[in-house]
Amino acid sequence: MPAIVETFRSTDGTERYLIAGNDGQTVETVWMPEGDGGEEGDSSPDEARRGSDAKKEWSRATICVSSQIGCAVNCQFCLTARLGIIRNLTAGEIAGQVAAVLRRQDAEPGRDRINLCLWGWASRS
Ligand code: SF4
Repeated sequence: MPAIVETFRSTDGTERYLIAGNDGQTVETVWMPEGDGGEEGDSSPDEARRGSDAKKEWSRATICVSSQIGCAVNCQFCLTARLGIIRNLTAGEIAGQVAAVLRRQDAEPGRDRINLCLWGWASRS
């Protein structure tokens, strides 16, 4: 199980993590809940249906995982572009991001509604 080395939480419930790869370099993984109890006035239909007795603060969520360290696309406005492409993550490192976030959020596919978003570009080699 990879280590979550840092967490950044937004007022809308979104959490962004720095997760360590096999070589200690970090990648970003994001948890995006829907129907959360985040921003004041953010009362989605899901929140209204679940009411105040809801066990969780969300009813479904998306986990956005990294597939590479760095990026080869080189958009001029982006800090990640300065890294260039360093390497592709292994399948285990990609799956590990999902497992680490599911554990942190006490989420369980099959019981909870979880979407995955895999973002990445083919490296130039
Ligand atoms: S991470 Fe996204 S914004 Fe940044 S260089 Fe790559 S494609 Fe462009």
